[in-house]
Amino acid sequence: MAINLEINSSGKRGVTLHASPAQNTEARLVEQWARVRARLLAEVGEVEYRTWLKQVNFAGVAGDEAVVMLPTRFLRDWVNKEYGELIAAFWQQENASVRRVEFRTGAPAARPAAPDLAEPPQATGQLGAPPRQEAVAALDQRFTFETFVVGKPNEFAYACARRVAEAPAMAGFNPLFLYGGVGLGKTHLMHAIAWELCANARGGRPVSVAYMSAEKFMYRFINALRSQSTLEFKNELRSVDVLMIDDLQFLIGKDNTQEEFFHTFNALVDAGKQIVISADKSPSDLSGLEDRLRTRLGCGMVADLHATTFELRYSILEAKALRAGVDVPSKVLEFLARKITSNNRELEGALNRLVAHANLFNRQITLDTAHEVLHDVLKAHDRKISIQEIQKRVCEHYSIRIAEMSSARRARNIARPRQVAMFLAKQLTSKSLPDIGRHFGDRDHTTVMHAVSRINELIGQDAAFAEDVELLKRLLEN
Ligand code: ADP
Ligand code: MG
Repeated sequence: MAINLEINSSGKRGVTLHASPAQNTEARLVEQWARVRARLLAEVGEVEYRTWLKQVNFAGVAGDEAVVMLPTRFLRDWVNKEYGELIAAFWQQENASVRRVEFRTGAPAARPAAPDLAEPPQATGQLGAPPRQEAVAALDQRFTFETFVVGKPNEFAYACARRVAEAPAMAGFNPLFLYGGVGLGKTHLMHAIAWELCANARGGRPVSVAYMSAEKFMYRFINALRSQSTLEFKNELRSVDVLMIDDLQFLIGKDNTQEEFFHTFNALVDAGKQIVISADKSPSDLSGLEDRLRTRLGCGMVADLHATTFELRYSILEAKALRAGVDVPSKVLEFLARKITSNNRELEGALNRLVAHANLFNRQITLDTAHEVLHDVLKAHDRKISIQEIQKRVCEHYSIRIAEMSSARRARNIARPRQVAMFLAKQLTSKSLPDIGRHFGDRDHTTVMHAVSRINELIGQDAAFAEDVELLKRLLEN
C-alpha cells in the first residue's frame, strides 16, 4: 500500500499513485472513475464541469451498475438528464461490465465539500471493510503559485511558501506552519509548493512528496493498525522528502494518531526532510494538541493568512475572470468583492456560477444578472439598512466627508451625492420624508422630496449616473 505521490523529473504534471501489490478491484474502480472524470472535464470544459459535474461522487459498482451520488435532488436530476449518457458511455469504455449509471442523492462520507478536480474521488463509507485504495489526495492542477493572487493579507505566507519550494528543509523554515480561516488559500499554497518542487526537480532527482489531510493521515494510520501493517506505514512516510499535512486541527483529541504523527514528524525533521502543515489556528492556539507536538510545530516558520481585503478579493476575481476568458464588467467584480467577504472559496463559487449562468443562457454578465443569479448567496447577508449606512456608503463612493451630508454647502459635487443619499434613504428605508430630512442637517421634507424627483429625473437622462445609483443601491441592499 503506497502512499506517496511522486512528482517525477519528467516535468509532467501527473501524479503517480503507486499500485500496491494487493490492489483490489475497488482500487481499480476508483482509478477508472478518476479517468471518467478526467474525460468528462475534457469533454465539457472547466466551467461546466465545475458547475455541475464536480459534485458527482462515486459510490461503487453494484452488478452492472455504477452508482454515483449527488448532494441534492435537483443536481441529481439535472446531471442525470444532461450528462447521464455521457457518464455511462465513458464508464463503459473504462469498464465493459458497467452498463448503467445509477444516480442517487446523498453526501459522500466525511467530506462535505466536493472533492477537488484532480483528486481521486473517495469511496464512501465502509470503514471496516478491507482497505480500499486509500488514494492520497492528488494535487489540484489549478493550485499553483502562478494562480495565487498575492495581497497584503497573504504576502507573508506566500513568501514563506516560495522560500520552502525553492530550498526545502532550510533552517528556520522547517516545519512551515500555515494557518488561517477557511478558504483563505492554505491548501492552494501547499499544492503550489508541491508543484514548484516538481518543476525544480526537473532533470535532477525526483522529489517525493506526500500530501494528505490530517483526516486521511488518521484514517491510514488506523487502517494500518487494523491490518497490522504499521511498520510499512511508518517506513513509507519516513521515506518521503516532503511531508504535507493539511488541516491539522483534525487531530485534536485523536491522541494515538497525534502520537504517531509526532514520531513521524521528528524522524523526518531529524533526517533533514521538509514538513509543511496547515491548520485553522496558530500552534499556540490549537488547544487539545499535545504540548510537545505544539512546541515542535512552532519551531520553524509560522505564517498566517489574514482575512481578505476588498482589494485582494477584487484582484482574485479579476484574475479568475481573465483565466476563464470571460468578460465581467468591473462594476460586477466590485459588487462581488464588496458583498462576498467571507472567504475566497465563496467568492470563486459566486463568480463561477455567474459565468456558468451567462454561458448557459447566452447572456452577458451585468449587475442585474449578478443580483439574480446570486440571490441566495447575497440574501445571507440581508439586513435592515440605516440612513447612516447609506450616508456612509454614498460618501465613500463620491469621496466626500460624512459631515457634508448635514452641511449647508450647495456646491454640485456635494449637493448631488447628498441628494443621492436622500433618494436611497427613501427607497431603501421605511422612514418618512420629514424623518429623512432630519438626518440631513434638519432639512425640510420638501427638500427631500425635491431630491428624490431630481435623482429620478437624472436616472432617466444619464445612463452612467443611473448605473452608479444602481450599484450603490445593490451594495446597500444585500
Ligand atoms: P483553505 O485551504 O485555506 O481553506 P483553499 O486553499 O482551499 O483554502 O482556497 C479556497 C479557494 O480559494 C481555492 O479555489 C483557491 O484557489 C482560492 N484562493 C484562495 N486564496 C487565493 C488567492 N490568494 N489567489 C487565488 N485563489 C485563491
Ligand atoms: Mg484547505
